[in-house]
Amino acid sequence: MGTKGRQIVGMDINELLEMLNKAFADEWLAYYQYWLGAKIVKGPMKDAVASELLIHATEELNHANLLAMRIIQLGGTPLISPDKWLDNSHCGYDAPTNPFVKEILGQNIKGEQCAIDVYQKLLKIVRDVDPVTYNMVLTILQDEVEHEEDLQSLDEDLESLMMRQG
Ligand code: FE
Ligand code: FE
Ligand code: MG
Repeated sequence: MGTKGRQIVGMDINELLEMLNKAFADEWLAYYQYWLGAKIVKGPMKDAVASELLIHATEELNHANLLAMRIIQLGGTPLISPDKWLDNSHCGYDAPTNPFVKEILGQNIKGEQCAIDVYQKLLKIVRDVDPVTYNMVLTILQDEVEHEEDLQSLDEDLESLMMRQG
């Protein structure tokens, strides 16, 4: 814990830590949802979709890493046990019970849209009070915006492929 680094934060640190830990839980769940989706996805374009899902999985894991480092800098502890992830998450976990590519894409698009909302709100909260967290959240938000677009354009390709095939 850096004492001066904590002093410059202009908001209640415990409140901030709680929000960061919720986002941390979101990222692990998103990681697992992508990682598993990449393994089980079936249907047209499944190879292209699986490789994008796997890239996103590693990017979500990197978000968990960024959040854990910031939580520790602020004197907090990242959630110690996975059984806390679901309770603490904003966006939850959408089990890919149907492995059809269109379903998997749809679930992950929903997840990204939830993440965009979460980080957009967090960005507003820290904007004038914690530039270090602001910078990290902005980095993550940029990735989530990219993820949504990646998935939606795959979904469009899939849509036109399925139309052509009737
Ligand atoms: Fe993420
Ligand atoms: Fe994402
Ligand atoms: Mg991508």
